[in-house]
Parts: sequence; C-alpha cells; structure tokens
Amino acid sequence: SSHLATAMDNRRLVGRLRHHAYHDPLTGLLNRTGFREVAGDPVRGDESCVVMRIDLDVMSGVADALGYAWGDRMVLAASRRLRDALGGEVPLARLEGGSFAALLVDRTHEQAQEIGEKLRAGLSMPYPVDKLTIEASALIGYVANTAEDGDDTLDVDTLLQRADVAVQAAHSGSDPVRGYAPSMGQIFLRRFQLVTQFRSALETGQVTVHYQPKIALPSRQVVGVEALVRWRHPEFGPLDPDEFVPAVEATGLVDALTSFVMDQGLQRVRSWLDRGLRMSAAVNLSVRNLADANFPDLVAEALRRYDVPPQLLTFELTESGVMSDPERALPVLRRLHAMGVTLAVDDFGTGYSSLAYLRQLPVDEVKIDKSFVLGMGTDLSDMAVVRAIVELGHSLGLTVVAEGVEEDSAREQLVSMGCDVAQGYLISRPLSEERFEAWLRARTIRARGLRDETVLTLVS
Ligand code: C2E
Ligand code: CA
Ligand code: CA
Repeated sequence: SSHLATAMDNRRLVGRLRHHAYHDPLTGLLNRTGFREVAGDPVRGDESCVVMRIDLDVMSGVADALGYAWGDRMVLAASRRLRDALGGEVPLARLEGGSFAALLVDRTHEQAQEIGEKLRAGLSMPYPVDKLTIEASALIGYVANTAEDGDDTLDVDTLLQRADVAVQAAHSGSDPVRGYAPSMGQIFLRRFQLVTQFRSALETGQVTVHYQPKIALPSRQVVGVEALVRWRHPEFGPLDPDEFVPAVEATGLVDALTSFVMDQGLQRVRSWLDRGLRMSAAVNLSVRNLADANFPDLVAEALRRYDVPPQLLTFELTESGVMSDPERALPVLRRLHAMGVTLAVDDFGTGYSSLAYLRQLPVDEVKIDKSFVLGMGTDLSDMAVVRAIVELGHSLGLTVVAEGVEEDSAREQLVSMGCDVAQGYLISRPLSEERFEAWLRARTIRARGLRDETVLTLVS
C-alpha cells in the first residue's frame, strides 16, 4: 500500500508539475506552452477554428499611488474580464505581459470579428486600482485555420504569429480589431529587409543624425539638442525612426545605432565648445543598451575621444525600457550617473509611469510626453497632467522638459508653470547637421565682456 501511496503522490506531483508547466502563475490561465498543447488538436482538425490575440494597451495618467505591482493587477483584472466574456470553456492563455490568446472553435470570420469587438469593449472599461481609475484599450488580431494559400502547415505557432501580424496591422491602422490577410506579411518582409540592410546603411552614409534644439525657459537660450536618427533608404525613401528603430532593436544592431548617434552628437558638442558654446546633446537609448554591462565603458571612451565633459551628454530612456529588466538596467544607469552623464526619463506620463518608481531611478531630468503638451491648449486634463509633472519633477529636484511645443500659447503656459526647458516645432523641427548649424549661427550673439567673450544663443 505504501507503493500505492507513493505512486499516488507521484501522480499528484506530476499533475502539479504539469499544471506549472502549462499555466501562468499570475492569472491561472494557460501559458504559451499550455496553449500550444490545448490548441494543437483542434487547429490540425477538420473543424474551422480561429486563433485570436488580444494585446492590452495601457494608457494611465501619472498617478502618485501606483507602485510596482499595479501592472500585474491590471493584467489580472483584464484576464478576468476576458474569461467572463468568453466563458469557461474557451482555451485562453496569457502569452506575456499584457498579451493574451484565445482559441475559438467552430467560428467563422464574421463571428470572430464580433467576439473581438465585444472583448475590446469589455477591456476598455476603466479599471479601478486603489483610489485611481486607469484606462486601457486593446488591439485584437485573429486568423482562421483554413489555409488560404494552399499550405497545410498551419500549426499553433504559425497561427499565433499571423494573429500577431494582424495585431500589428491593427496598431498601424484605424481598426482596433483586424482579421489576418496574407498581404499583411509584406510589412514583415520589409522589416526583415530593413534589419538586414541596416549595418551597410550605417557604413554607406544613408543613416544620418538630425538635431532639434532645446531652449531654457523663460530665457529662451539654447541649452542643447536632441539627436534623432534618420535613414534615407534607396528604395523606400526617408524612413521614420518609429519604423526602423524597433526593427533594429529586435536584433543585435542597436549598439551600432547608439554608438553612431552618440559619436555624431559628441562631435557636435566638441565643435560648439571650440566656438565657446556650451550646449548638450541628448541621445535616445534602447532597452538593449541598458542590458549591456559594457555600455558605460563605451560611453566613457567616447567622452574621452571627443574630450567632452560628461554633463554635456544626456541619455533619454523610457520607463518601460527600465521596467522591463530593472535588475540589469539599474546598475548600468547608476554607473552612467556616477560618471556625471545626465539621465532623462522620456515620454513621461505614458505607459507604466509611476512616481514611486521615478524616485528610485538615478535620473536628473524628466521629459513630459508630447501628447500632453500638444493637448494642453484644448484639453484641461492634459493641462492638469503637465502641471502635475512640473510640480512633481521639481519636488524631486529634477529638471523638467516639455517636448511637442508647437504653439506660442503652450510655451507661455509652460513658463507660467515654471517648466525649465522646451522643445518642439515652435522652436525648430529637427534639422540636418548643416541646417542646424545655420540655424544656430543666425541666433548667436557674441558679447565682448571685460575678461572673455560671452556667447549667447537666443531664440526670438
Ligand atoms: P522621441 O524620443 O519622443 O523623440 C521626439 C519625437 O518628437 C521626434 O520624432 C521629433 O521629431 C518629434 N517632435 C519634436 N517636436 C515636435 C512637435 O513640436 N510636435 C510633434 N508632433 N512632434 C515633435 P522622430 O524624430 O520621428 O523620432 C521618433 C522616435 O524614434 C523618438 O521619439 C525616439 O523614441 C526614437 N528615436 C529617434 N532617434 C533614435 C535613436 O538614435 N536611437 C533610438 N534608440 N531611438 C531613437
Ligand atoms: Ca527622446
Ligand atoms: Ca519623447
């Protein structure tokens, strides 16, 4: 009987292990492996079924009370809404972060579209977390297992991938719920080309850096620039960084991108110093840079090479970049900070903004996301968010920068709120090196004092 007991225990243990291997501990839903397992047979079977991906997109305002764990609570709340809407029988998985998958058996394309819209409506209702209300939306993509192009290799992974392509299409289009179409694959072909061509594009001068000035408020003195990468592709024409930077980030090439932009920026800072202008250059970092323990050494070497004081180099990083792997990112940030490099949190107010978190980061500057600054003229809640970030930033001893300043009225409001620095089309669009230098020359005043020359660059 003890044998029997052991066997039972083993079975229970194996059962538990299987449960762990197939389920997501946070939500209790299936994980990717579990979904593969459960969906495998239906997908290969004769019955028509649909694989649906649901990606949660969180748009919270800045909220003081939010700590580390609230992202998990959002995901949990969303998973319950999905489960309630779909019923207990539908295989439902959490793939990663706020990304879910469902298998709809015996459903047509039209029915899938309806279900997708219903799920989206449910996920878009506000989420009460503590005393706050968080808003979220969802993007949904789906694909049926009925092979359209005659290939009979439609396994679960292929369907998940195609549903993801549909989500990406939903992301770039106006329809938040999209069914997969084979033409959507073209986007991925292009992405693939961009990634494979990027290194040679760097070497052949197709990739350049544009500069957008930042001015101090209220003095309007130019204090620095943001360095923004540009790619003039021989076939596709000028490409937005929003199109190719994520593709480059997904490969190992982001080091090359960051080094290139940093080198160009430091070269500018050096040449301005040589002319008596003390202006900084800001470089955008990717998550990958923060995961690289050698990155601070590369930076130190570049600063030496161009003989630029570290204070004149700024790195802009997004919170999601730090949040995705804080244990690796934080030591890198601390070293950069200890070297004297300026660190700024970019796009503040979007995504996983959390004050509790900001306090723990070794940062000097916070950049208010342009969506709030652009909305300030027409939307009182945007105005309130901007004002709150300025006050919050100052209470933490941070420099507050507003980007997306397009109107005179916005600049005036920022001045009245005490915002320190402004950047935006009102002052200048990002300009090529040559055009930026001309812009700068036209605004530089040289005043000969008793001892030395004071150089001021003022924007009217
Ligand atoms: P970001 O860091 O938020 O950069 C600011 C973006 O806002 C730039 O877009 C800039 O052209 C645009 N902008 C500036 N002023 C205004 C304004 O007044 N109104 C409006 N509507 N927009 C304004 P851009 O150059 O297309 O860059 C997009 C994003 O690509 C950047 O967003 C940044 O996240 C990324 N990026 C750009 N260069 C690099 C780079 O060298 N490395 C990395 N990792 N990312 C980069
Ligand atoms: Ca930036
Ligand atoms: Ca930004």
